[in-house]
Amino acid sequence: MVMGATHAVSGAVAGLLAAQVLPPEWGGPTSTAEVFTFAGVCAGAALLPDLDTTQSTVARSFGPLSWVLAKVVDEVSLWYYRLTRGKRDPKRNGGHRTLTHTALFAIAISAGVSALVTAFGRGAVIGTLFLTLGLALRGLAGGWAKRSGWIAVTLVAGVLAALTWTWYPDEIGSRALGVAVGLGCAVHCLGDAITKEGVPFLAPLVPWSGKRWWELQLPSWLSIRAGGTFERAFLGPVLTLVAGALAVWSLDGVPEAVNDALVQFGALS
Ligand SMILES: [Zn+2]
Repeated sequence: MVMGATHAVSGAVAGLLAAQVLPPEWGGPTSTAEVFTFAGVCAGAALLPDLDTTQSTVARSFGPLSWVLAKVVDEVSLWYYRLTRGKRDPKRNGGHRTLTHTALFAIAISAGVSALVTAFGRGAVIGTLFLTLGLALRGLAGGWAKRSGWIAVTLVAGVLAALTWTWYPDEIGSRALGVAVGLGCAVHCLGDAITKEGVPFLAPLVPWSGKRWWELQLPSWLSIRAGGTFERAFLGPVLTLVAGALAVWSLDGVPEAVNDALVQFGALS
């Protein structure tokens, strides 16, 4: 897989873009607080699929709790793989990169989170933000998270979520928060698919030549090496710049101010 930071930053970019285009009548975010929450949730969710193995760094996000969760998800994924395996799918001993790396999972978790937000409002929004921020911190600040440990990660995620609680509008507009979670999962799968590992994104619904868990993958001459020069020197910095620019653009009043400045400039010249 690509590095955790690349997963998280590409999730942030996807979240900021989706927040711009999702119409408010579909539950899209309408204020700066909602846009940033949407993007933060998407950034963390871009690491969520790897919560299917205790070997991943995100399994350490919330200490023993996330470790046990990863263990359970691993077992459930393996059980589901065996249940749905096609004639020509190989035998497996672990669930990593199966169920949580499918479109089916992304859609199901989207629907689940959106249902929770519709039922419980702000509490569900902030709860989702807290959990995904813990994952995002592991991805974005892996070195710091490793040195400081899971209690520090949990505290920082908790403080950021609590601040957002006070900043969040009373009228919960962004009921489509589930879309941020599903989109993050899909972005994660895309990241895995451009490295040498494939992902069974359409499994188990779309069988192909006797296999239900065939993997989507770029041809080897196009795929990149995880943690290699292209990712470190180009993909990572470019995604970070785009995320920064989109974040500034999302601030209340910035697009209008830029528009005014352009009109003024046009009038003067
Ligand atoms: Zn993965």
